Amino acid sequence: MKILFTSSECVPFVKTGGLADVVGALGPVLAKMGHDVRVMVPMYTAIDSKWQQQMEFELNFDVQLGWRRQYCGINTLRKDGVTYYFLDNKYYFGRPYIYGLGGDEYERYGFFCRAALNALPLLDFQPDIIHAHDWQSGMIPALLKIQYAHLPFYSKMKSMFTIHNLQYQGIFGIKEVQDVLGLGDDLFTNDKLECFGCANFMKAGLVYADVITTVSPSYAEEITTAYYGERLDGLIRARHDSLYGVLNGIDVDEYNPETDPLIYHNYTKETIETKQKNKMALQKDLGLEVNPDIPLIAMVGRLSNQKGLDLVDCVLGDIMNENVQLAVLGMGEARYTNLFSWAEQQYRGKMAARFAMDHALAHRLYAGADFFLMPSLFEPCGLSQLISLRYGTIPIVRETGGLRDTVLSYNKYNQEGNGFTFLNYNAHDMLNVIRRALGYYRDQKDVIRTLQERGMSGDYSWGHSAQDYVKIYKKMMG
Ligand code: ADP
Repeated sequence: MKILFTSSECVPFVKTGGLADVVGALGPVLAKMGHDVRVMVPMYTAIDSKWQQQMEFELNFDVQLGWRRQYCGINTLRKDGVTYYFLDNKYYFGRPYIYGLGGDEYERYGFFCRAALNALPLLDFQPDIIHAHDWQSGMIPALLKIQYAHLPFYSKMKSMFTIHNLQYQGIFGIKEVQDVLGLGDDLFTNDKLECFGCANFMKAGLVYADVITTVSPSYAEEITTAYYGERLDGLIRARHDSLYGVLNGIDVDEYNPETDPLIYHNYTKETIETKQKNKMALQKDLGLEVNPDIPLIAMVGRLSNQKGLDLVDCVLGDIMNENVQLAVLGMGEARYTNLFSWAEQQYRGKMAARFAMDHALAHRLYAGADFFLMPSLFEPCGLSQLISLRYGTIPIVRETGGLRDTVLSYNKYNQEGNGFTFLNYNAHDMLNVIRRALGYYRDQKDVIRTLQERGMSGDYSWGHSAQDYVKIYKKMMG
């Protein structure tokens, strides 16, 4: 099959979150299965010069965006059996940030969607499936159906739209979007592109894609409800028959404690004691008391309300009163950076916080921590808990979305489980389960060991999920 991915991020080139990991890992796995996979990504300045040097200029063309005529260059790079196309326009992507705050995002990603479709005949690539990821690519299924499907070159192409996070929808003024993409008033009705008086890129993908997927079975169910549906639950319920939940995997080569070059000491299930050495090196680096007997809880992720940080805020004092250390790595909202900066001062030697995108430190936290805390309000899939399991770091999570599908709470009666969980979005429920986990750490090391080994034995690779995608692609092609 010929498959085109379109995405605003892709590992190893540009990443702000899990979307990049998913696109970057799934492509090569599908290619290894024999499919012709190509990925289109914006050519951001932020892409490391190491990769920019390996790109080759392929071609350029002009893109008509309403009254604007914009240059689009295509730079190509082949890696792991996948062809990556970087869509280059300095005005849109030559900026010191990846995502802007509102501003002209509709024009930047409107350009991306339009250019992606226009580039295909020039590249002589006629995909069977266009697999568009998240709102930045949401207009692709819509444009394909509305403006391109009558052209013989495009007429057989099917589109899949994957929701990685329904919270971010790309909501803009209708006039602005019309001005860029030339979509008539008749399309801005409630059953098509209009959404509560605005244009909505996510909705465009949801209405027009042949198939919708999201990144875990539980989230696929949850987003049909008003609580999780982000005001699109009605539409998602209406398209329920075309909606699938396919669980993400992780790149098990990148995240492998046995070979990971970024961690202090490599280890396996058999040499799990070495985790202690990683912990001590980490404690030293972070300015925490160096003591292998104090349990260390890590958090890595975007500092946003999605990640359940309100709960942590609510009971931080109670957590820190335990014999425990807490290390946080993340970037995001000021209220959380303020909270954790304060906590670092308040609980010197017990609490460390770093606010940066730091891949090496992330790996060291996954390797060195005893527990990984992820009390998310909602979680489409979540990769951090999978990475933690792979490193023998026991997840403590709320039972929502992909967390619910991947972490099973330890059951003391039948010894099942691979972590600790709580159900309600309630700070004291979280505190209780943290105390429960710390209790096992203190009194029942054998349980901790079992959970670590079980975590490290799990299969988090893309194998199953890639096969699920292929099955759906085949069904779409009829
Ligand atoms: P989301 O996609 O909601 O941000 P995921 O758990 O799906 O959350 O994926 C987050 C990914 O980004 C993980 O690989 C995590 O380790 C990584 N990550 C998040 N924040 C940082 C950071 N500040 N430094 C390094 N890696 C980070």
